[in-house]
Amino acid sequence: MTHSHITIWWLRQDLRLSDNPALVWAAQRGKVLPVYIHDRTRGRLAGGATKWWLQQSLAALGKQIPLVIKSGETAKVLHDLIAETGADGVCWNRCYEPWAVNSDKDLKSLLRENAKVEVESFNGALLLEPWEVKNGSGTEFKVFTPFWKTCVGLLEARGVIPYPPPQVTWHEGVASDSVTFYPSRNEPDWAAGWDKLWQPGEDGAHKTLQHFLANGLQHYANGRDLPAKPYTSKLSPHLHFGEISPRQIWVEAKKHAGANCDKFLSEVGWREFCHQLLYHYPTMVEQNWKQNFDAYPWRKLEGKAAADFEAWTKGKTGYPLVDAGMRELWHTGWMHNRVRMVTASFLIKHLRIDWREGEKWFWDTLVDADQANNACGWQWVAGSGADAAPYFRIFNPTSQAEKFDPQDSYIKKWVPEYGTSLYPKPIVDHEAARKAAMDGYEMVKGESA
Ligand SMILES: Cc1cc2nc3c(=O)[nH]c(=O)nc-3n(C[C@H](O)[C@H](O)[C@H](O)COP(=O)(O)OP(=O)(O)OC[C@H]3O[C@@H](n4cnc5c(N)ncnc54)[C@H](O)[C@@H]3O)c2cc1C
Repeated sequence: MTHSHITIWWLRQDLRLSDNPALVWAAQRGKVLPVYIHDRTRGRLAGGATKWWLQQSLAALGKQIPLVIKSGETAKVLHDLIAETGADGVCWNRCYEPWAVNSDKDLKSLLRENAKVEVESFNGALLLEPWEVKNGSGTEFKVFTPFWKTCVGLLEARGVIPYPPPQVTWHEGVASDSVTFYPSRNEPDWAAGWDKLWQPGEDGAHKTLQHFLANGLQHYANGRDLPAKPYTSKLSPHLHFGEISPRQIWVEAKKHAGANCDKFLSEVGWREFCHQLLYHYPTMVEQNWKQNFDAYPWRKLEGKAAADFEAWTKGKTGYPLVDAGMRELWHTGWMHNRVRMVTASFLIKHLRIDWREGEKWFWDTLVDADQANNACGWQWVAGSGADAAPYFRIFNPTSQAEKFDPQDSYIKKWVPEYGTSLYPKPIVDHEAARKAAMDGYEMVKGESA
């Protein structure tokens, strides 16, 4: 191995050292300069909760390696670093948000042509590239079950093999800018206590996975719908920030083969499905995937509708499962999947508020806020997405609570005043809301998707 080369490893959503193809490539070339760039001009600005996570995750990584954090426009920062260090290579792991796909492509040509450096990008985030999985007609899948069956076939044929940890010689001595993602002066500190709930970083990700495999996986297939039980992995923020890879999860989970493992991996498969949908339908974050939903008569966010939205965000709708979910989200930065479906359905169908308003709220408050999964989740519930729940399937928040939280354990944890005179009355009547939602649906159905 020669150490005459210096390679900039540009980190984004791959905040880990193991199974990191960009890092492996950089290490093989010579010395590695690890850089995270805070660039406010690239893509959608991070929400509050993910800023908190990012700050902790970078701090954890910075304890292991001489990570350089820079602030500014990405191309300029990279050009400056090349000039400063004499680096002759730049690499990164791919992101699949539409803005990232476009600007990464431009950046690659710019660096190759102007800076005359070697540039490579890799797949560090998904089991398969979004363009690799095709149906019989050679196009992308729009339905999950055949998509995932095809993925599993491909993965089993190829084998899932994480990259071995590389021997890295770091290029040191480059100064970081002073960047604060989540100011500690936030008063009151919204994220107070989150460090007891979460351990951002690669170490935390692997501990979370192993804890889940030892304690939750055996209950997963039947228990993953029970919000009071710790039967899901809580790996979503770790996966979003790439502190662990789906390849590593696949390999570790497969050691516990069986129905629970298959169900769990199929949920990881939903993440793949959402990412490939976003890749092929880049407008999915802002626009209905089924365009006939453009005709839906959402309420304008003013007057009573604005008050209803606020009650939803604060967990004061008078529907205890909805309120418990919204409070869990506010207090922990995370919400159980079953309750995400119920709270989203309530906003869209009971309150007839545009799913995009809910998507924005989740974007700001979830520690796992992810463009692909969030837009996919909201459009699934709205009925406007690919392979979505039919619009007319309107969750009844009361019977959902009876079914999935029969002892009210989850509700009582988050809504301690439930059952007392302090608990608010329902802001809408279920039957009347259901009828209004179905009347709205009459305006979109019948038109082709
Ligand atoms: C309205 C709505 C919004 C959502 N927003 C997000 C979001 O911003 N970020 C996010 O990561 N997930 C989102 N989800 C999907 C899902 O709720 C979370 O991924 C899951 O609850 C995370 O908890 P977990 O890690 O314990 O999941 P587990 O059940 O342990 O699943 C393992 C992993 O599989 C993936 N996964 C599981 N379910 C889904 C799903 N339905 N769609 C896509 N990936 C899935 C996640 O990466 C998850 O970490 C949303 C779902 C809905 C209904």
